[in-house]
Amino acid sequence: MHRAAPVAAGHTGVMTDTPRRSTGVRWSVRTRILASILLVTGVGMLVSGGTSYLLQRGLTLDRIDERLVSRVESARAVLTTAARSTPAGEPEVAVPTNRTFTDTSTAMRSVLSHVPGNSNESALGVIDGVPAWLPGVPVDFRIEDVPGLVERIVDESNASEVRMGTSLAGGRQIRYIAAPMQMMDDAAPAGEEPQEGIYIAAVDVDAEFADLNSTFSTFTLVAGIALFVIGLVGWFVAGRLLRPIRRLRAAASRITAGDLSERIPVNGSDDVSELTVTVNDMLGRLDGAMTTQRQLLDDVRHELKTPITIVRGHLEVLDVSSVADVEATRTLAVDELDRMARLVDDIDSLTESQSALVVARIATGEFTAHVFAKASVIGGHDWVLVESADAVVAIDPGRITQAWLQLADNAAKYSPPESTIEMGSTVSGATVEFWVADNGPGIAPTAVERIFERFGRVDSGRGIRGSGLGLPIVKAIALAHGGTVNLSSSSAGSRFAIVVPRLETARTDPIERIPS
Ligand code: ADP
Repeated sequence: MHRAAPVAAGHTGVMTDTPRRSTGVRWSVRTRILASILLVTGVGMLVSGGTSYLLQRGLTLDRIDERLVSRVESARAVLTTAARSTPAGEPEVAVPTNRTFTDTSTAMRSVLSHVPGNSNESALGVIDGVPAWLPGVPVDFRIEDVPGLVERIVDESNASEVRMGTSLAGGRQIRYIAAPMQMMDDAAPAGEEPQEGIYIAAVDVDAEFADLNSTFSTFTLVAGIALFVIGLVGWFVAGRLLRPIRRLRAAASRITAGDLSERIPVNGSDDVSELTVTVNDMLGRLDGAMTTQRQLLDDVRHELKTPITIVRGHLEVLDVSSVADVEATRTLAVDELDRMARLVDDIDSLTESQSALVVARIATGEFTAHVFAKASVIGGHDWVLVESADAVVAIDPGRITQAWLQLADNAAKYSPPESTIEMGSTVSGATVEFWVADNGPGIAPTAVERIFERFGRVDSGRGIRGSGLGLPIVKAIALAHGGTVNLSSSSAGSRFAIVVPRLETARTDPIERIPS
């Protein structure tokens, strides 16, 4: 039984187990896309919001310090300015004066009644370590109510230095400035010590930050809502984009090694549909390879059955007492075993003919002479080299030699003894033919297709034995070179030609040597 099988349909492959999946948590691509979007957006919002918050905070702190310093400067001005009289109806002008206060307490009172206050701000006049004067305007908080603050300032202060500091007492951040103040009447009795005054101005930093914090709370809320909306939209968009891949996966999972005939429907014309086409192509190749493999096994089983049956049949009826019978059976068994050995060799060649080529740029003239020299030693025939093409081809010289010699061997096998066999290479358009022509019986047109199939033989009636793998090997080698095998046959003989593409090349291009 012969079956039609594509020759050289590609390398037959063994399907291996799918690589093991990692056992960790499996995140779907959709989740990962969404997580990446949210992460990037979230980090972007955090960085921009955080940076701007910190900048604003720094600016606010700087402004607080500037305000506190300006309070002390105002206090100094109060002690050293007076109003200059101006024409009636016009504002008074403050000018420096050498007016002096006779004691610290009066000076402090004057300062606290003049220095302007602002929201979240307070001031205090301390005389000899005791809070003595409050500002003349209402204040948002009282410095003396901040636990331990007055004591701390009194302890830290010295008569010559203006100090700034921050108190965190009572969980509240207060920034303060403390300026020492001493006044004494020139007419005061000698040895009398002036009172020690400290002018304190302070700002409630937490209250100053309240506006900023509320702005950023709003920002955080809006950012959170934006992230949620981005996540929602991202989830739907990612789902939509990945839907074809899910469909592809579902279809692919339905395809089993036992049935590779199913193809995945191709929808649209995007990357995913291209992927589907590629997967379908791959399935086609796998299907072809599996079919070829199955058919080869079927054919080999069938071909091996015949010699086994023959040998077994003869052994069963062997008359061991008859030397002639033993002798004949032995000859037959050895003959059949030789046939099986040839078959195994041919299967080897067939497998090899489907492995990767080692292509070189070969000059056809030299190559033709090389192969003819090998073929012409096949005995019993008159070998003639008719033509030698002058061209360059990209071939695996070993493989083409193998195929060409196979044709020569067939010609020798199937044509009458001592007949002439012609060989040659011919340029034909964009191709080169490596051919063998014999004067044999030719091949019937009905048998032409069959002889190129594996184990496809035609009984010549002369009892010539063969495996039926020679021509399939030749065809596989020609196809692997992007070529084909041509056959023209009549009752006067056959001409087989391996046709391969010719290289358009300049004569000066380097050409490789043919390995011997
Ligand atoms: P095998 O020679 O082992 O039978 P092949 O595949 O080489 O296998 O050939 C297949 C068949 O093609 C042969 O059985 C033979 O009948 C036929 N054939 C091949 N070459 C020739 C030829 N040069 N002339 C006539 N018949 C041929």
